[in-house]
Amino acid sequence: MNFLDNQAAPIRENRLGVGVAFGGTCREARRAASQGCLNQARRSFSQTHGCEFTLSLAITSTFRNAVIVMHGPIGCGSCVIASAGGAKGYRRLRDPAAEGLIWLNTNLGENDVVGGGEDKLARAILHADRKFRPEIIVVPVSCVPALVGDDVDTLLHGLQAEVGAKLVPVHCPGFRSKVMATAYDDVYHGLLKTLVRKNDDQSNEKILNDELQEMRRRYIAGRTVNILNVSSMARADELELERLLRVLDLRTRFLPCYSESLEFRESLESALNVSVCGTHDDYFLEHLKSLFGIPFMIDTIPIGPRNTGRWLLGVADRFGLSDRARRLIDAEETILEEAIVPYREFFQGKKAFLSGGEVRIVATAELLRYLGLEIVGFKGHHFDHFSEPAFEELPGLEGTVFLVGTQQPFEQVNLIQRLKPDVFVGHTGSNNISARQGIPILPLFGNSHAYMGYAGVFEVARNLRRVMLNGSFNHLLAEHCPLPYRKSWYEKDPFSYIVDH
Ligand code: SF4
Repeated sequence: MNFLDNQAAPIRENRLGVGVAFGGTCREARRAASQGCLNQARRSFSQTHGCEFTLSLAITSTFRNAVIVMHGPIGCGSCVIASAGGAKGYRRLRDPAAEGLIWLNTNLGENDVVGGGEDKLARAILHADRKFRPEIIVVPVSCVPALVGDDVDTLLHGLQAEVGAKLVPVHCPGFRSKVMATAYDDVYHGLLKTLVRKNDDQSNEKILNDELQEMRRRYIAGRTVNILNVSSMARADELELERLLRVLDLRTRFLPCYSESLEFRESLESALNVSVCGTHDDYFLEHLKSLFGIPFMIDTIPIGPRNTGRWLLGVADRFGLSDRARRLIDAEETILEEAIVPYREFFQGKKAFLSGGEVRIVATAELLRYLGLEIVGFKGHHFDHFSEPAFEELPGLEGTVFLVGTQQPFEQVNLIQRLKPDVFVGHTGSNNISARQGIPILPLFGNSHAYMGYAGVFEVARNLRRVMLNGSFNHLLAEHCPLPYRKSWYEKDPFSYIVDH
């Protein structure tokens, strides 16, 4: 794979045949995905949608020593303010001296739609470079400059000699794709073209000034695993994965989230790139393999004991360490099993509904089933083949409901009303809706808690029990903040507006 000669990454509808409109069962969704007909479907009515520009900020707003210069009207990306506090705190878990989130906006208006916004962008970049002296300036490009034809790449290329920061364009206008996750490719496209480069001393391998140092470098690189983290991961998740791989004598490096420019360059010094979620990083990993020859593993997400074991074995297998990994998995599962006993009785027979990225919700369902809950339904932002390994670890759910929809709260409330789960485990943006239906909510992820590995199973059990025992706030919400839908909508088929051709 190599799309880097193009200005922007291809949209996922074309590259992966992804679908964003489907209502049926898990069996039907998987079959439709395998036959490549999911992306034919659409909605005759769509209540809300997702925007690539916004999602690109989920990654780029985590970079350390960086400034974001958003190129667009002031509203684009303004939601980043919601994550500013967290971004600062979680950066400091990696570097206590890290700055908080710094962003500017070119504030395009009506005149710029006529005359173009390149001058404003140039001024904003020069200002950001001189005032903040960052290592990286990320320039996400929104709908307006994309539509009026601002030549951002040429502008950045010309400005690069005048600034100290590395300029990273991210072409992510929200109108381009219905698959919001295309934003991940947009970000990686920009990183691959600007930051992921061999150092001079890495590329000049024929002249060795210090052979011992060179041997040491290669030895370390041969045992280093890049783990492609996601912004929804907690630092506790990283530490758990690092702990497990350290037992196998493997060194870990986490990127791209919370990384700085040096880490992107050093990322080429590794033996294996390991995905935590294929939906996030296949574009990056495929390019790293074709450009630099670094092998990669995309399998399941290490959430739930079976998925964690599978993920660990997959990594270990690449280094000939499968036997050691099996012993580690046995030991970890024994400890976990003992720790979970007091929780199982509480969860037995309780019903859960999951909403969010399709890989993560299917893996989390494995975790919940391990705790004793029954899974009554899923709502995925989109559907692609990356959830297949997690489905393989979750037999017996063929007839369970699967709704595919980015946002679309009207379908969610209808489905929840019918399925009546005891708990809703969901992504930011969908939790508030079902909280107003009076259901206890467990966030699908949170930067303050572990969800991954064996420690994650235990932490989810503790948090889930706590939220299910304390449901009064959501009951009051349901009583006093009713949802705006008519009774007649709840009587209709929740998939009424999904047209499958
Ligand atoms: S859809 Fe376009 S105009 Fe709307 S927030 Fe996203 S980038 Fe901005």
